[in-house]
Amino acid sequence: MLLKIENVGQYLRDAGIKPSIQRLKIFEILAKSYEHPTVENIYTQLSPEIPTLSKTTVYNTLKLFQKHGLVMVINIEDNETRYDADTSFHGHFKCNVCGKVSDFNIPNTQPLIESLKGSLITESHYYLKGICAECRLRTDN
Ligand SMILES: [Zn+2]
Ligand SMILES: [Zn+2]
Repeated sequence: MLLKIENVGQYLRDAGIKPSIQRLKIFEILAKSYEHPTVENIYTQLSPEIPTLSKTTVYNTLKLFQKHGLVMVINIEDNETRYDADTSFHGHFKCNVCGKVSDFNIPNTQPLIESLKGSLITESHYYLKGICAECRLRTDN
């Protein structure tokens, strides 16, 4: 999801994170992308610009962001972890054809969790899979 953050450095500092160049760049990719990137995606985008960057650094930085509540982890597939800088509650739809993961709004989950009344929900994920509208048009499915 596209986040409008005027000062990424301040945003990180407010969350208790010291904004190094690498952290700034990694967060900017997350905030400016609709793609819900993986470690691999972020590494590939940044390594020409920061040749000293390693995948481990990207991974550890994302862990740090997660710990400070700045990113949401998306495990829509067992074998890939994606990250989202938009931590507001929303669902993710993955197209099985093009692999794109899109956001969608969930208006009100209250009726859904009525049966859990009295429980404390600390995490929620809403994943849908299928074929996106574009791919359906293209393949006539
Ligand atoms: Zn698609
Ligand atoms: Zn999202």
